[in-house]
Amino acid sequence: MKHLKLFILLLLSLPAAAQTIIKPDAGIKQMVDEVSSKNIEATIRKLVTFKSRHTLSDTTSKTTGSGAARNWIKAEMEKYAALSGGRMTVQFDTFTQPKGTRIDKPVKLKNVLAILKGTDPTDTRVYIVSGHYDSRINDVMDANGVEPGANDDASGTALSMELARVMAKRSFPATIIFATVVGEEQGLYGSANLAKRAKTENWNVDAMLNNDIVGNTHGMETDLKDNRSVRVFSDGIPTNATDKQVAALKSLGGENDSPSRELARYAKETGERYVDQLDVKLIYRRDRYLRGGDHLPFLEQGFSAVRFTEMNEDFNRQHQNIRTENGVDYGDLPDFVDFNYVQKVARMNLSVLANLASAPARPQNVGIITSDLTNKTKLTWEAPAIGKKPAGYYVLMRETTSAFWERKFYVSDTAATLAYSKDNYFFAVQAVDADGHESLPVFPKPIR
Ligand SMILES: [Zn+2]
Repeated sequence: MKHLKLFILLLLSLPAAAQTIIKPDAGIKQMVDEVSSKNIEATIRKLVTFKSRHTLSDTTSKTTGSGAARNWIKAEMEKYAALSGGRMTVQFDTFTQPKGTRIDKPVKLKNVLAILKGTDPTDTRVYIVSGHYDSRINDVMDANGVEPGANDDASGTALSMELARVMAKRSFPATIIFATVVGEEQGLYGSANLAKRAKTENWNVDAMLNNDIVGNTHGMETDLKDNRSVRVFSDGIPTNATDKQVAALKSLGGENDSPSRELARYAKETGERYVDQLDVKLIYRRDRYLRGGDHLPFLEQGFSAVRFTEMNEDFNRQHQNIRTENGVDYGDLPDFVDFNYVQKVARMNLSVLANLASAPARPQNVGIITSDLTNKTKLTWEAPAIGKKPAGYYVLMRETTSAFWERKFYVSDTAATLAYSKDNYFFAVQAVDADGHESLPVFPKPIR
């Protein structure tokens, strides 16, 4: 409660549109500090020793190929789980992928999941952080070349594993799944299977964080060097929105407030609260040109999901046979990964997951009253039906042209009337506990 009171005082004493200040959680800061670039480096270098982690590569060898790689990842995760007091369990998420464009015969594939069960039995929320452990070179069907995939995506895999290591020893009310998935390069198969399973088994996935290519800090031909920025890609119009829902969003100017975009804004605010020298850059698109990623199947199933990727890419170090051509070196090798940068991105992911999994669930039925013509804004909502009871709520506000939330109003009730016109600003509501952990913000629906 102390933080909230301090926060309200700050709000009252600051001029309009000033930056809000929230005291970081010492427990989260401690975990953030424990994320180690040395561990991340060791994991990436180890993953490269399997020679190929191609989805169709050998599964029988103990030292090379996809089978050896996934067994090693599982064994490592089990070491972390051993320190969790029985709360973390590790499993292969096994499925048979039928023949397809980039799969020449039906093949049994395995994601590796480390599941840290939430401590609150009334809280069904699940958070997923994921990287893909498969790799490729120029020919996407070449399963047996030298395919290091150090940046794409041993970096994301190592990030997911390092977070499992640090967080296994802690407890959170909600469940966190540390995933390393297969089949991304062949067609997002591991992630698609996991998203479908989540939907079929009614998992309450509140957010999915996809980390893919998070280790390189210079642009190929532009020579831009940047070790402090990371992009977060989010969809504007929800990928699974119906025509009717799209029409409603257009009429409100809500195209920029999908649940995934609120997640992206949350990642920026929380990540920058806990990690120094890091700018989380909101990119207003689902993914880059010509590219896709493991967040897409989750978006298709209606979950909130975003993709994190380095700021400037080196395409000579993605999907390339290792070679030198006209004096240019090609290949996705570990020596070109900036491990301190991966550490920063990992720390950002950890702060987002820890803050979300510690927070109350999102408020429900958030509405903006539109029955009166007025220059004020009246919002109503209900407490979350699951998990801990919130200490209160933040009403967030921003100019319609602003990328980020600019004001946070604390209210202890489940309604608020603000002296700002609903026609001139955007609003959202998030639940907050006594220690300041915020839920994801919910963009209101009009209520007559
Ligand atoms: Zn990738």
